[in-house]
Amino acid sequence: TGSQWNVAELEDAAHRHLISPAEEMSKLGTSGGRPLFTSADGIYIRDSHGRTLIDGPGGMWCTQVGYNSQPIADAIAAQALRICYNSPWYSINGPASELARRIAAFAPGDLDHVFFTTGGSSAVDSALRFMQFYNNVLGRPDKKAIICRIDGYHGSTHLTAACSGRAGNRPNFDLALDNVSFISAPNVFRRPRGMSEEAFLDMLVAEFEERVETLGPENVGAFLAEPLLASGGILIPPKGYHRRILEICRRHDILYISDEVVTGFGRCGHWFASEEVFDIVPDIITFAKGVTSGYVPLGGFVISDAVLARVSGENARGSFYTNGYTYSGHPVSCAAALANIDIIEEKGLLAHVREIAPYFQEEIRKLGELPLIGDARGTGLVACVECVTDPDAEEATDFDKEVALRVDRYCYEGGLIVRPIGSMCVLSPALIITREQIDDMMAILRGSIVRVQ
Ligand code: PLP
Repeated sequence: TGSQWNVAELEDAAHRHLISPAEEMSKLGTSGGRPLFTSADGIYIRDSHGRTLIDGPGGMWCTQVGYNSQPIADAIAAQALRICYNSPWYSINGPASELARRIAAFAPGDLDHVFFTTGGSSAVDSALRFMQFYNNVLGRPDKKAIICRIDGYHGSTHLTAACSGRAGNRPNFDLALDNVSFISAPNVFRRPRGMSEEAFLDMLVAEFEERVETLGPENVGAFLAEPLLASGGILIPPKGYHRRILEICRRHDILYISDEVVTGFGRCGHWFASEEVFDIVPDIITFAKGVTSGYVPLGGFVISDAVLARVSGENARGSFYTNGYTYSGHPVSCAAALANIDIIEEKGLLAHVREIAPYFQEEIRKLGELPLIGDARGTGLVACVECVTDPDAEEATDFDKEVALRVDRYCYEGGLIVRPIGSMCVLSPALIITREQIDDMMAILRGSIVRVQ
């Protein structure tokens, strides 16, 4: 907050009037316990008590170039003064056009057309709505079922929430489940006891294939998947998983939607992870978060020309694609994204991530040797440690989750934010992080785990 704000008054206003995501309703109007952050710089964030912390989760997997970037702030200000808004329903603007060109240039394969939204949920929602539009125009109105994974997370709109398989997000909401079907998460750590990783992969692929057969390929419109399940607990599928599922999709003309809201824009050392890390060129890639490093909201999807060609031009059959937002291609957001991409390029951040990630992963795996940690995993600049207090339990216990919260609290006291997701403490720092800062982060995390043990 600037000097004009009174912290105590702001906290009081929040308790009285603010509804936050993931709100524990019994605590609404009480102290709540959420920190009030007041300023930030690089990988560091400062709270209202004046404590400076390493931002381990990078906001929510999004602060790629770090906080307090003057060029991004300048780009936002300049665009706001030049022209802050135009209606995307009947006009275009410079930043959106240029950003579409840049994204098309680094997206894999023939993914060459970009549709902008306001964030990740609206990006995935729009990709799924495109699938519906596509199959209606193609004259196959029944081909609309969506197959997704337990523990996947795709957003908070009605449709994307329905496609999110994390049990904790579902209670007390009515979700459009009719056309959504879940298969197992590729959770290598929790795979059936004694099963090899190869056999587990075969099992997962067979489950997908059987599901397509059961639903009928003529009824399945899309497979929706994060390259690695992020909010679901950094679940990295066995090698070959995406490729084998994509092959089945191709065989049955099912759109493969790769949700790169977390993995896009450098998190895994590449603009997108689908091709370079996971060996697939999907039909659609959704993105958000890192596209602007979190400075302003923006999301979108990039789609293959081959897919688009089937419902456009002479194949359009008179159709209108009437899906979009007042803020699709918002000029200020797109200007921020262009400045963000420039920084990623100028600082060589993709190469930096590729260089530093092995060290980060090595260090996180060392924490896996601590008695409290059942598994330590990750790829690129995303990782987690999973607290396991009962090695015989098949799933995370309530006590594991309590322990993770304690680790989280001790980390905060020590100067590091980690993001507890169930029994896991998750890290996805800004891409600018240095080796020394990784050491600082790991030392605090290690100390906090040892303190709990
Ligand atoms: N998809 C994935 C993979 C995500 O992790 C998220 C958010 O964390 C979303 C979609 C939703 O994005 P947003 O919160 O920007 O709507």
